[in-house]
Amino acid sequence: MVQKISILGATGSIGDSTLQVIDAHPDDFCVSAVTAGNNVERLAEICKRFRPKFAAIADEALYEDFKAALAGLEVETACGEAGVLAAAAYPADRVMAAITGFSGLKPTLTALENCSIVMLANKECLVAAGSLFMDIAAQQNTTVLPVDSEHNALHQLLVSKSIEDVRHLTLTASGGPFLNLPLDQLAEVTPEMAVKHPIWSMGEKISIDSATMLNKGLELIEAQHLFAVPADKLKVLIHPQSIIHGLVTMHDGSVMAHMGTPDMQIPIAYCLGWPERLKANIAALDLADERELSFLTPDLKRYPCLELAFEVLNAGQGMQTVMNAANEIAVEAFRKAQIGFADIAGLIRDTMDKMTDADISCLADVYAVDEAARREALDSISL
Ligand code: NDP
Ligand code: MG
Repeated sequence: MVQKISILGATGSIGDSTLQVIDAHPDDFCVSAVTAGNNVERLAEICKRFRPKFAAIADEALYEDFKAALAGLEVETACGEAGVLAAAAYPADRVMAAITGFSGLKPTLTALENCSIVMLANKECLVAAGSLFMDIAAQQNTTVLPVDSEHNALHQLLVSKSIEDVRHLTLTASGGPFLNLPLDQLAEVTPEMAVKHPIWSMGEKISIDSATMLNKGLELIEAQHLFAVPADKLKVLIHPQSIIHGLVTMHDGSVMAHMGTPDMQIPIAYCLGWPERLKANIAALDLADERELSFLTPDLKRYPCLELAFEVLNAGQGMQTVMNAANEIAVEAFRKAQIGFADIAGLIRDTMDKMTDADISCLADVYAVDEAARREALDSISL
C-alpha cells in the first residue's frame, strides 16, 4: 500500500532528506501535504515534482506569488498559520514534523491530533512543551518516532528494553566547528564560521546550536521526555566523527551502540519504514574506511550552554521552556551580529535568572512563558 506522507518544513534540510528517501521509493510513498515558511520557489518546485494534494506557505504576504508559481497545477493551497495547521491536519499516514523552532509547536500538536504516526525532527517543540506534548500523543494514541539521529539510535537500541534495566543513555556529539579553537578566540567567531558544521549539513539555527552545544542540551531534554528517563541517567560524549549516534549501558555492564554514516536519510528511512525496515539503498558504514573513532568528555568552559542545559534538565518544565525561548532569541541576535558568539550563554542565563518563577501546568502556560522569556531576552539585548 502506498503511504501518504505530509512534510511540515518541506523546504528545509530535513524536508529535503525526507523527499530524497520518498523519491527513491515511489511504490511505497506519495506526498500528501507540504509547508514552508517563505521559500516560494522551492515549495513550488516540490509541488511540481511530488504533486502533493495540499501546500501551504506560512508567510501570508507571499501567497499571491505562491499561487502564481503553481498556476495550472492541481493542488489545494493555503497560507498563514491557519494554512500550515490545515496542512498538519490534512489526511496522511505519517507526518514529518520538521519546522524549525518553537513555531513548529502548534503544527506538530495538530499533527499529533490528526495522524497516528508523527516523525519528530522539531526538538524545540518537545523541549518547550515536554511531558504535555507526550501526554497529548498518548491520549491520541499517536506514535512519536524520533528523527534526531541520537534519539533515533536510542529508539532502535531500546526496543524491548525498559528504562529500569538501563544504567544510562549516552548521546554523542560532534563538538561542532569550534571543538579545537583556542578558548580566547571564541568571542571573535562569526555566524558564517558557526554555521559551517564539520560533519552534518543542516539548517542555520541547528548548526549554531551545534557550535554552542546547546543542541546537545536540547537533545538531553528531548531524550528525557521521549524515553521518560530520569535526568541522572543521561550522559553526553563528544565523538568528532559522528559514527556512533547513541549508546545504551545496561546494569550488567553491556554497552550497546548504534552506528551509521552521518546522513539524516538513515534515521528518516527508519521512521518511514517503522516498524518494518525499508530496503533503502543508502550507503552503509564500512568501519574499514574509518581511520579512527575518538571520544572525549565535553569541556563545560568551552560549552557553557551545555552546562546550562544540564542544570535545566533538573529544573522542571518552566525553565526548559525559558531556556529554549531565550536561545532562539540569542541565536537570531547572533545571526544579526547584535551579540557575539560568547554572549549567547550569558543571555540565556540572564533570562533564566529573571524568570525563576516560570511555571507550567497546561499548554496555555507554555505559550505564555515562551512569550515572556522572549520579551525578557529581547529587553536584555536592547539595554
Ligand atoms: P531548516 O532551517 O533547514 O528548515 C526549516 C523548515 O521550517 C523550512 O521548511 C522553513 O521554511 C520552515 N519554517 C521556518 N520557520 C517557519 C515558520 N515560522 N512557519 C512555518 N515554517 C517555518 O531546518 P532543519 O531542516 O535543519 O531543521 C528542522 C528541525 O529539525 C529543527 O527543529 C532541527 O532542530 C531539527 N533537526 C534537524 C537536523 C538536521 O540534520 N538538519 C537533525 C536533527 C534535528 P523556509 O525554507 O521557507 O524558511
Ligand atoms: Mg541530533
